[in-house]
Amino acid sequence: MTRVDLIVLNGTLVTMDRDRRVIQDAGIAIERGRIVAVGSSRDIARMYTAPERIEAAGKIIIPGLINGHTHVPMTLFRGLADDLDLQDWLTKYIFPAEAKNVTEEFVRAGTRLGLAEMIRGGTTTYCDMYYFEDAIADETAKAGVRGVLGETVIDFPVADNKTNAEAMAYVERFVQKWKGHELIVPAIAPHAPYTVSEEHLKAIRAFSDRTGAPIVTHISETKREVDDSIKAKGASPVDYLARIGFLNDRVIGAHLVWPSDEEIQILKREGVGVVHNPQSNMKLASGVAPVPKMMAAGLRVGLGTDGAASNNDLSMWEEMDTTAKLHKVFSGDPKVMSAEEAFSLATIGSARALHLEKEIGSVEKGKRADLVIVNRDSLNQIPLYNVYSDLVYATKASDVETVVINGRVVMRDRRLLTLDEAAIKEGARVFRERIIKSLGSAAPPQ
Ligand SMILES: [Zn+2]
Repeated sequence: MTRVDLIVLNGTLVTMDRDRRVIQDAGIAIERGRIVAVGSSRDIARMYTAPERIEAAGKIIIPGLINGHTHVPMTLFRGLADDLDLQDWLTKYIFPAEAKNVTEEFVRAGTRLGLAEMIRGGTTTYCDMYYFEDAIADETAKAGVRGVLGETVIDFPVADNKTNAEAMAYVERFVQKWKGHELIVPAIAPHAPYTVSEEHLKAIRAFSDRTGAPIVTHISETKREVDDSIKAKGASPVDYLARIGFLNDRVIGAHLVWPSDEEIQILKREGVGVVHNPQSNMKLASGVAPVPKMMAAGLRVGLGTDGAASNNDLSMWEEMDTTAKLHKVFSGDPKVMSAEEAFSLATIGSARALHLEKEIGSVEKGKRADLVIVNRDSLNQIPLYNVYSDLVYATKASDVETVVINGRVVMRDRRLLTLDEAAIKEGARVFRERIIKSLGSAAPPQ
């Protein structure tokens, strides 16, 4: 018998490996944060012993879900301004509310709220872009969650940095501090090609080349962005970014709602990760990204929720369900995206979009032990015929029971083990009062 840290036994395992194996009565052995064996429960139980065991009989074991794009502290702005288009929403509500409220304390409280929601919903990795990202990294590491965390660089004064020089110095310290951490991948996050100058974008690319830090950004979110880009720069956003030498296989681009066919080829050639955010794009009426076309072209496509102010939750279950249905109705073809494909976007697809597919995204020997045990006994799941159909169209975040990240159990039988849920809720309510007061007559009707 080999002694390991943790074993999981007797579940139906949806591996999301190359062969898309689904193993009945599966067992998994975990040692020092990594999966050391996957097989039949009988074999795993015969070969391994561990001080900690998870019994998954009658349940589904899946790779941890990966939220490819969010702004986690924005949970505190959830429902603050709805039913607006992107420019009004951003310039009349979100930017002013951020200017008046975002402090390190705000960011920590919002991050803890988002982390608790994500763990409860089976999200084990998320990719973020916000301010005070060092505090976000600290909270994320303490909660035991994995993150690709990008400090925002934008060409106007923001909460944590007032100038580009300050922002670049912050990012330098931030990346040096967290580089090599087993949960945190520090990144640099230029907000968008229309809010960061060409000179600054080139400096960001040079910084990434020197440090290896991923670049998280928004690209081609609205038709207006494309029209403005053509007018101002003579090229649509992807084309422009390629021309200035910004794109490569460390770039993670959110949205990509409006790329042309030629731009899809550029994204493919440069190895850019693409994160689809269907609910946010629907809510802001930004459009429908050509995801089936991008998948057919072999792009690195994943899935994200975007910030909670434009979604308004961080559930990857809703996002998968919405993705499959949105592309069916938009194309008029119910076969354009299957449940299995939608599930792949939230797991191995997002891992590829974050350039982390060698480490996460599937349950396989050698990968990080990020996995989720899902109940299959809720009324909304019964009876069960096909596991992917069940996961994408019927399962809810509330059906997630147990969550393991990097071999550590962070939720067991619906009990959060690394976060204090009551304190988090109380903290968020305190910020709600402050935010309403800060907006004065511009506060939304209650
Ligand atoms: Zn975003």
